[in-house]
Amino acid sequence: MLKYFGMKILSVTKGSVAEELGVRAGEELISFDGFPVFDFLDYDYYNSCENFTMRVRGKDEIVDYEIEKYEDEDLGLELSREIPVRSCCNNCVFCFVDQLPEEELRSTLRVKDDDYRHSFIFGNYVTLTNVSESEIDRIIRLGLSPLYVSVHTSNEELRRKILRTKRETPSILSRLEKLSRGGIKIHAQIVYCPGINDDVDSTIRDIEPYTQSLAVVPVGLTRNCNPELKKVDSASADAVLSVVEKWQKELLVRRGTRFVFAADELYLAAGKELPSFEDYEDFAQIENGIGLIAAFKHEFDAAMESYENGDVGELSIATGESAAPLITECALKVQKKFGGKINVYKIRNDFFGSTVTVAGLVVGRDIFNQLSGKPLGSRLVLPKVMLREFGDVFLDGTTVSELSEKLGVKVQIIQPDGESFVKALIRA
Ligand code: SF4
Repeated sequence: MLKYFGMKILSVTKGSVAEELGVRAGEELISFDGFPVFDFLDYDYYNSCENFTMRVRGKDEIVDYEIEKYEDEDLGLELSREIPVRSCCNNCVFCFVDQLPEEELRSTLRVKDDDYRHSFIFGNYVTLTNVSESEIDRIIRLGLSPLYVSVHTSNEELRRKILRTKRETPSILSRLEKLSRGGIKIHAQIVYCPGINDDVDSTIRDIEPYTQSLAVVPVGLTRNCNPELKKVDSASADAVLSVVEKWQKELLVRRGTRFVFAADELYLAAGKELPSFEDYEDFAQIENGIGLIAAFKHEFDAAMESYENGDVGELSIATGESAAPLITECALKVQKKFGGKINVYKIRNDFFGSTVTVAGLVVGRDIFNQLSGKPLGSRLVLPKVMLREFGDVFLDGTTVSELSEKLGVKVQIIQPDGESFVKALIRA
């Protein structure tokens, strides 16, 4: 819960509304219109309003200001833009954080972020189990939209079993309904665990009225996973895709959107053809990895058409097992059109376990162990998703320069999109 409120004013812009009123750096911003200020989201909201009251605690007294300004006029206060992470109060059966290897991993990877403010700012999925009713009201009042919500199932009892939450919270359906009525757009997800939340059909039916889009993604299993969990196999992937496709057909007619989208891995697991680029509509769930292959192919084809000449030389690309067929297919097309020699290496994930096949979880030590002594050409191309959010470091702590030095090859990090891929390969 958000217990503490009030924020220190770091600076006041010269000539701004706040400065003219006499507000000074070092004072404390307490509330707007009587609502306590918890973080910069309160400030951002009121900074785009015209008329409101603002309470500030100065050195000796509390002052209430009546603010009148233009909507786009900056009030002029600088506050901290940091929001400390609020951890989750769950212990989900499939929690990826709990499945991380014992090895030394940076502590940020072990943070169980379940913060609705981070959902609004960064698009992280949250369960809403650690959010009070007054915070739901705050979300609506400040218009913190869209939010990304992990639903998993609309069956409350089953949801409690999956999340193993320590707190009693209102039902997820009542929360989604309230947020939706309050004008908050919600993108939802189901982490599909075969044998646990197979009734995807009822969940889609129940949450569809309150949400903008829904992703169905397979549970991710590492070598440390909970033994209760089963891997999504071809039969379970096929079954869940049939449900998704049934709803897509119905909702395209009724809502004008397919609404529910399945992860690329589910099509790969079922051995089914992936939907076309157009079928993903506005790629509402791309941050969840949904439609990545279609988007990559689309960007790749457009980039290939736009370049006539290229200088490929001999180089290598390393990727995860799931993306390897696509990357191989694209590398061959580049080679055919521009010449050169491109070695594509599929990296088995020994660090997290061989069931982990995505490129984003390939680590430096697996790349080194599997590519050492292999022909690499003049450079090794790797997608940026293999690195942590900040810094040139893989998830296992290996740095890009360490890998480059150990393999004796230049390592080139590229954005994981089709255009960057072509540009990097042909040195455009
Ligand atoms: S909400 Fe569940 S999956 Fe997410 S961090 Fe918490 S325990 Fe892990």
